[in-house]
Amino acid sequence: MLEVLVSLDFGYKEPNDCSTLTVAQVLALQPKQKVGKIKAKVVWLQAGSKLVNFRGRQKEVKDCHVADHTGKIRVSLWGGLIGKVAQGVSYVLTDLSVREWRGLYLTATMNTTIQVSEEVLVPESVARQQLEVEQQEEEEVEQEEVEQQEEEVEQEEVEQQLEVEQEEVEQQEEVEQQEEVEQEEEVEQEGITTVREPVCGIQLAYQRQCSSCNEGQLAFNIKAINHRCEACGFYQKVGSYVKAATGTVWVNKGNVKLTLKLTSTVLMTYLSQNNLQELLADVQLVEEHFLEVGMFVIQYNANNVVVVVTTGNV
Ligand SMILES: [Zn+2]
Repeated sequence: MLEVLVSLDFGYKEPNDCSTLTVAQVLALQPKQKVGKIKAKVVWLQAGSKLVNFRGRQKEVKDCHVADHTGKIRVSLWGGLIGKVAQGVSYVLTDLSVREWRGLYLTATMNTTIQVSEEVLVPESVARQQLEVEQQEEEEVEQEEVEQQEEEVEQEEVEQQLEVEQEEVEQQEEVEQQEEVEQEEEVEQEGITTVREPVCGIQLAYQRQCSSCNEGQLAFNIKAINHRCEACGFYQKVGSYVKAATGTVWVNKGNVKLTLKLTSTVLMTYLSQNNLQELLADVQLVEEHFLEVGMFVIQYNANNVVVVVTTGNV
């Protein structure tokens, strides 16, 4: 079944901006080539970050994997960029550079910017692709005996990193400059606004979501046998669609009434962090909870989509 899906490309909305490369296009490039812009979802984030020694200074580096409908690639983030990505969130990343070590990957440069974008669809076939670093980390969890091996790998990795960096003094200087600039800007993450307010209105409803791309379905006939996803086009059994609560919250910000979209992913994260999953049995219980709690800290992006919600009473 997966093989069939790989070749499909149903009415996917290509970005208007032709300078935006797909992951597949990036994977066709050569090491050291520049990538102006990619739009992709972070599908995996390294558990911690790694300190790399470089010219007497320790540099923090963290890997993530990003994907779109065409493929998946590793991205190395440096210094201040590390805190700008979260797993499951889609971003526009600019000014990256292609590197090669255990396959092609991307590294951030001094000009790299990271902004939250609308959700990028990732077919399950792509999401399941395993890249090497990810495999490494899974093994680490499973068997501790591998630790020594891991250390060797890490050392190898550090050496490799040093090699790359020594070749590219200029780039490193650029990253340093960038870190300085970012320390000043750290307070406000680009494109993300934070409000600390009570929720003054909420409307939630159940929707069926595609198990492949997570998009909600507007027209869903529960009595049908199969249903074609309105977003990714995959034709699937009705039972494979997940019942999810999604909706809108209203928050007063000064004199402005904000209307924010609450996705089921963000809602589920909030409910599970507060051990409130059982409220999902009745969507009205969730609505009541939001009106009763009081203060919330809500972060939302430029498209008025909530990216993080937490209670503000801590
Ligand atoms: Zn879908």
